[in-house]
Amino acid sequence: MLVCQLSREKGTILSICHTTLHKVNDPSAHAEMNAIREACKKVKSRYLLGAWLYTTQEPCPMCTSVAIWAKIEGIVFGAFEKDAMKTFGKNSKGKFTWKRC
Ligand SMILES: [Zn+2]
Repeated sequence: MLVCQLSREKGTILSICHTTLHKVNDPSAHAEMNAIREACKKVKSRYLLGAWLYTTQEPCPMCTSVAIWAKIEGIVFGAFEKDAMKTFGKNSKGKFTWKRC
């Protein structure tokens, strides 16, 4: 499970979310996407100026792109994608391939 938090300066937490793609059958329901959606709803804006995204793993290209579109200040993550790929590769039993361009 990925956990993601969006915070603004002075410790204001805008959202804390986890991955729900399996629960809601939505391939875009990554923790980062959920956190960005919830934060945008909260501030009633598509921009999250001054906000930082904290996440357990390096965000995927989709989530990184959305963070950029939301004008998020920066991203802090706990593990690189290559480490996540090792774990996911074991869990998917070789049925999934994730390659960098
Ligand atoms: Zn993602």
